[in-house]
Amino acid sequence: MQLFADWHVHTRYSDGQATLEEIVAAAASRGLDEVAITDHGPRGMFIGVREAGVYQELKEQAVRLAEHYPVRVLVGAEANVISLSGEIDLPASIIKELDILAAGLHPQVWCRPWWQTLTWILPNRLSKAVGAIRGKMREANTLALVGAVRQNPLTFISHPGLVMDVDLDEVARACAGTGCAMEINAGHHYDRDEVVLAALREGAQLVVNSDAHVPETVGKLDIGIQLLDKYRVPPEQVLNARPAPQKAEPRRLTGFAAMAGRMVSPPS
Ligand SMILES: [Zn+2]
Ligand SMILES: [Zn+2]
Repeated sequence: MQLFADWHVHTRYSDGQATLEEIVAAAASRGLDEVAITDHGPRGMFIGVREAGVYQELKEQAVRLAEHYPVRVLVGAEANVISLSGEIDLPASIIKELDILAAGLHPQVWCRPWWQTLTWILPNRLSKAVGAIRGKMREANTLALVGAVRQNPLTFISHPGLVMDVDLDEVARACAGTGCAMEINAGHHYDRDEVVLAALREGAQLVVNSDAHVPETVGKLDIGIQLLDKYRVPPEQVLNARPAPQKAEPRRLTGFAAMAGRMVSPPS
């Protein structure tokens, strides 16, 4: 399977370490056709963009850079799911300007209403140690993520199941219903096999991204490609896959070419 894009990369505008130009140069040198900058939404604790207007600034830079590098530069966001009802931390006025919209569950986020930070996010951080609340948190996380998928025009959900546990089949069913893809995130360790299997069971789309925070890992998608091959996922089910090459028809020579072909063929 060949992939043409990496749609999940962070710059210094959130918690990445590189400038936009360093990311674009890295994408070009890896031979990607497309790269998308998806800095964290503004309600991420310490890691979000300082305000939603930053995406507009990135778009202006992207237009300038695209003239100098052989790669399409998209500007998107990795929004935070900030409530149990599936709200995300970007207004519609910004969302409509973005090329790509991802959203994910993160355990470092300011909720709206604020008290869900205490009743939902904090218990998630404790649930590894306190088994009794693990099931409740899984239900809450699933509700929030499914709500986000249904209410927002998401291109994909980032790293479903990483740190904040969810029912992947339920999430995959919601994704299959809206066309939102489930991400195989090559930059984090979590049960990516289960993401692929849930997507295959429920007919949801997949996408493979690096989640790069430094230029060196932009376009590093091998782990995802190996999984797609392992489970024989068809390219049509992967948003950033190149279509499978058509089987070549045996070439038939006609007219003058056929005559020429016969003339040069060795005597039998
Ligand atoms: Zn994330
Ligand atoms: Zn990310």
